[in-house]
Amino acid sequence: MAIEKFNIVLPPEIAYDEAHLLRHLCRIKGLNPSDTTGMRILSRSIDARQRQIKVQLSAELYVGENKPALTYPEPQYRDVTTSRHQVIIVGSGPAGLFAALHLIEHGIKPIVFERGNDVSQRKRDIALINRNVTLNPESNYCFGEGGAGTFSDGKLYTRSNKRGDIHRVLEIFHYHGAADNILFESHPHIGSDRLPSIIKHMRQTILSCGGEFHLGSKVDKLLIKDGRAIGCRAANGIEHTGDAVILATGHSAHDIYEMLLNQNLTLEPKGFAIGVRVEHPQALIDSIQYHREDRGQYLPAASYRLVTQVDGRGVYSFCMCPGGHIVPATTTPNLCVVNGMSASHRNSPFANSGIVVEVRVEDIYKSFDNYKELKGLQYQKTCEGKAEIECRLMASRSHTEVKFQAPAQRLADFVEGRFSSTLPQCSYVPGIISTPLHKCLDKPISERLQQGFRDFGKKMRGFLTNEAVIVGMESRSSSPVRIPRNPDTMEHVACERLYPVGEGSGYAGGITSSAMDGINAANKIIQLIKT
Ligand SMILES: Cc1cc2nc3c(=O)[nH]c(=O)nc-3n(C[C@H](O)[C@H](O)[C@H](O)COP(=O)(O)OP(=O)(O)OC[C@H]3O[C@@H](n4cnc5c(N)ncnc54)[C@H](O)[C@@H]3O)c2cc1C
Repeated sequence: MAIEKFNIVLPPEIAYDEAHLLRHLCRIKGLNPSDTTGMRILSRSIDARQRQIKVQLSAELYVGENKPALTYPEPQYRDVTTSRHQVIIVGSGPAGLFAALHLIEHGIKPIVFERGNDVSQRKRDIALINRNVTLNPESNYCFGEGGAGTFSDGKLYTRSNKRGDIHRVLEIFHYHGAADNILFESHPHIGSDRLPSIIKHMRQTILSCGGEFHLGSKVDKLLIKDGRAIGCRAANGIEHTGDAVILATGHSAHDIYEMLLNQNLTLEPKGFAIGVRVEHPQALIDSIQYHREDRGQYLPAASYRLVTQVDGRGVYSFCMCPGGHIVPATTTPNLCVVNGMSASHRNSPFANSGIVVEVRVEDIYKSFDNYKELKGLQYQKTCEGKAEIECRLMASRSHTEVKFQAPAQRLADFVEGRFSSTLPQCSYVPGIISTPLHKCLDKPISERLQQGFRDFGKKMRGFLTNEAVIVGMESRSSSPVRIPRNPDTMEHVACERLYPVGEGSGYAGGITSSAMDGINAANKIIQLIKT
């Protein structure tokens, strides 16, 4: 009876082929694979800096004893049907869902309000956008069960390590159906084909424990009494009160910001980023990153991360999706917004990434000052609207009717300031229309992007090519508004028991960091209730 431990460097054809790996580990220990009762990979990360690609791997081999089913403590979800305490959660994205599940572990009943549809109906709503039919403003790539995380790429890494327990977030995803590899890959990724069923399981956990989940319930009013949030009301008349309100509505819920201002709750403008999505053939990115013609059978689709400074502002890649697709991510007709996603196998022939320019509050034109706290939001909308109008104008020249097509330009043409007379193949399903984005983007953004792409072409030889296409607009990488909160209690600065969390609060960004933010707010509420 033993557990043999390994910490080794291997070539990809062994590290990414479990049968081969098992034979290899057994050979090292002089064992027969039939002597073993199981193998578990504990961590795996790829190092492609040198021509000879190496994989650092740690693993365990079980001999004569059973491999435990879970490597982490199973979450203890309690029956909260008759709990004395309940918390209202507005929004069922990662921040709202993880807060709800955490409250249940502590015996508190969550009541979730979600403006959009369940994941199954949401898939149908999204298909209508991709077929250029219609956009449901309540159910799309950003709104609906699971939030913007549901049809996302599902990359689960974050640089905000100090925000909380990243591993616990991965474990909760795994517990609800994510594949084992998210627990050991250095860059874990779920994939948009698997996320919807995981999100559905999370809702089932909440409901089976006695929590409530109100779909199609768009909150339009907070219930506040004596400076304290006590509940909320949805447009369909559903109203609930509780011990606290967690506001987890994401950064595309512009109406929530309006609602807060109407209820005299402070907001602040915040820096954000604007740019485009760039798409290359995946084979080209593989050949640059792996220094070989073909990545072969075992290596994962290659990714990259790029950053430079141009004229005092950061220009950087964001949400890179190897083997992915560019998708229409607007929540409002007439605004052009794109994002990226990929399926679990990352097997599309395209590699896309947001390339964005940092926008500080002081960079936003004075003409937007009238919008006060919402000036960043208004600037963002203006950029997205302008891209849509330009795209429509270009389409009208060829008598094409525009619905959700997006403006696009070959990358080298953009950098050289040339119109693209043809466009390469692109993964964006509604279609792309050749548009001179170098003119359509604001000059400070456009010029920084052009220089940024030149720098990236030097860092990754072959990146700056006309085989690549840029698609507008990548404008929702972070929120242009902050809902200010007390750093100690996480409550809104002017309203007790109101917890703005996740990406829409301006304090978090991405799936994992938003999930941790939701858990942190739940912990604050638990402390408050239990003392
Ligand atoms: C296509 C795409 C791909 C992405 N890929 C990745 C990725 O790979 N990795 C990563 O880390 N991040 C990715 N992101 C970003 C990530 O999805 C977000 O950062 C994350 O979902 C934010 O979580 P959240 O809970 O704060 O908000 P959201 O996920 O935006 O959820 C907010 C929820 O609130 C609901 N809501 C809004 N207003 C109301 C209201 N008035 N009443 C009731 N409900 C309301 C919305 O319908 C939504 O469900 C991607 C985003 C998109 C769009």
